[in-house]
Amino acid sequence: MSSGPSGTGPSGTGPSPTRLPVVIVGAGPVGVMAALLLARRGIRSVVLERHRDVYPLPRAVAMDDEVRRILQAAGVHEEFAAAARPANGLRLLDARHRVMAEFRRDAPNGRHGYPQTSLFDQPDLERLLRKALSEYEESELRSGVEVIDVREQSDDPGRVRVTLRPVDGGGSEHLWADAVLGCDGANSTVRQAIGAAWQDLRFEERWLVLDVRTSLPVRCWEGVDQVCDPGRAATFMRIGEDRYRWEFRLADGEDADSLAAPSSIRALVHPWIDAGEASADDFEIIRHAEYTFRARIADRWRRGRVFLLGDAAHLTPPFIGQGLCAGLRDAYNLAWKLARVLGDGADEALLDSYQSEREPHARHMIRLAVATGWTMTGGQDRAAVVRRTVLGIAWRIPGMSAALTDHLSPALARGPLVGRRRRPRQLVGSLCPQPWITVDGRRVRLDDVLGENFAVVTVGAPTPSLSAAARVLDAPVIDVADGPLAAWLRRGRTRAAVVRPDRVVLDVAGRDGSLPRITSWAPLLSTPVPPSSRRSAA
Ligand SMILES: Cc1cc2nc3c(=O)[nH]c(=O)nc-3n(C[C@H](O)[C@H](O)[C@H](O)COP(=O)(O)OP(=O)(O)OC[C@H]3O[C@@H](n4cnc5c(N)ncnc54)[C@H](O)[C@@H]3O)c2cc1C
Repeated sequence: MSSGPSGTGPSGTGPSPTRLPVVIVGAGPVGVMAALLLARRGIRSVVLERHRDVYPLPRAVAMDDEVRRILQAAGVHEEFAAAARPANGLRLLDARHRVMAEFRRDAPNGRHGYPQTSLFDQPDLERLLRKALSEYEESELRSGVEVIDVREQSDDPGRVRVTLRPVDGGGSEHLWADAVLGCDGANSTVRQAIGAAWQDLRFEERWLVLDVRTSLPVRCWEGVDQVCDPGRAATFMRIGEDRYRWEFRLADGEDADSLAAPSSIRALVHPWIDAGEASADDFEIIRHAEYTFRARIADRWRRGRVFLLGDAAHLTPPFIGQGLCAGLRDAYNLAWKLARVLGDGADEALLDSYQSEREPHARHMIRLAVATGWTMTGGQDRAAVVRRTVLGIAWRIPGMSAALTDHLSPALARGPLVGRRRRPRQLVGSLCPQPWITVDGRRVRLDDVLGENFAVVTVGAPTPSLSAAARVLDAPVIDVADGPLAAWLRRGRTRAAVVRPDRVVLDVAGRDGSLPRITSWAPLLSTPVPPSSRRSAA
């Protein structure tokens, strides 16, 4: 990553400013991931970041296997694996630490080819993403600059002006871009600039977050413990060899700093570890911070060519570890579409599918996190006791618990690219699984064979209309013979599926082997509808 002035132009006089394909505001994990995914598709971007280094305070620690696939798509999964550890899943404990419910997500090679739950340290992830980005000449990270305004040019709708200034003083400057990604976190300037407002999803609590390094024995389940105690709700997990994370809910009027005094902390962690007499060498409080956990979602995620991603678009309490995960899903969903519009002239309407697909998904995950939070804390009103009892029972209902075990995230909602699902098991809009497969005697993960663009997976030889569709999409056709993918196709009552670059199923073959929805999605992708498909399309 250079810090040169490419693509910049001073306001007023001087050389005429270069128009950049993409400006990304914020080099948090979501902004850097978006830049990486775009760079891999040959789309240039400049990432603008206020701070010089990654944010050092404790934040995300858990990631699911669907999202590890995104790290794979960005080419950083091996580095991440070296820094992460698999976990057993999630347990709900009562106030006396008896297990109320256990949601195991401990398959080492789950449905998506990775451990279902991984624990890690967010600054480690951010550093490795930045290192990966530095290897692409398509991207430039400019730190120490603050974006103060983002404005679409009324005389040129596809053109956005970004105003920035150095944080240590100096005049402002403008950049012009074909698209701007607002990855600037919870207090997003870009969100304000596009006139988006928060919708409150009714959750707000203050929590103390504590990271500890210790060599002492810890009573630990190797997963996430959620203590459902209205008196002192807590979360606990091991995140490294000798690193542990605790989170404690703060009561109204309670002060995080006084609770973080060493003697209070030792009392708080007592159910897990006897640290009473330990020296600071044996029990080191690495850092503590107070956070207000909120549940919010922006009412619009896009205006023209300006988009919101990550915490700029949605906030969730962290109880099911899905805040950062949702942001990385945003980047994965948008990057290929934007690249197709900017690089291949696809229809602008393709970009409408970003919010229609991502918003309902994010909303679903936030609701699940809030429900978990209510189970832990009982909420804050008089109905709390009733609700906690009801929720305690609900966790034992298969549909509810399945959401936290097998199928953490739902299929995408209907939209320009996702057709209506007529049956519950219909595959359109859901993620294609990623089994390990053998190619030329080598065991590889499916995505490495599918490549970075569209792909067709089929049982047996493709029909002529499927072959024609694969040709226009430039998609490899993979005959999955017999195996987990064939079983997945069979369960979805089809013999073939077209998989998008973000591994979501775009279409499935009908009984006659044709793609029934091709006339809906092909124009959006600026892909011709092959005559053979047109004949058989519904
Ligand atoms: C205690 C805690 C625990 C969590 N646990 C989990 C978990 O287990 N799993 C999970 O998935 N998520 C978790 N999260 C959520 C996760 O940390 C966030 O969702 C994630 O950091 C959001 O990333 P982001 O890139 O969208 O925003 P941020 O990380 O906030 O990055 C935004 C960046 O934009 C920069 N910026 C802002 N405004 C400007 C501007 N005007 N100009 C220039 N730069 C700007 C900021 O400096 C910052 O670097 C947790 C959060 C907390 C607080």
